[in-house]
Amino acid sequence: MGKNTVQAKQWIEKCYPDSCPSKETICRWFAEFERGRTDTNDAERSGRPVEAVTPENKLLLGCKCRTECRSNRCSCKKNNANCADLCACDKIVCLNKADEVLIA
Ligand SMILES: [Zn+2]
Ligand SMILES: [Zn+2]
Repeated sequence: MGKNTVQAKQWIEKCYPDSCPSKETICRWFAEFERGRTDTNDAERSGRPVEAVTPENKLLLGCKCRTECRSNRCSCKKNNANCADLCACDKIVCLNKADEVLIA
């Protein structure tokens, strides 16, 4: 029984002097109110459609290589793309960099 619940009971008794809801009833009202509010927030959060992960999106995220990006385990190489700044790979050891950033 929180302070707000007590205040709500006092407010209800003041507004509805004829009705005398039990503490349990008020608690239930409050629980439903809190749950309703939470549900509304959840609906707003989950209302946005989850973005489909397309190969292009994966590419934009860059690879997560810890190696030289030589094999198709590198998502950049797998998609016939060069590694870019977004990649987590080490640009010094990466062998899949764009030609212009290759160290001659
Ligand atoms: Zn890579
Ligand atoms: Zn990459």
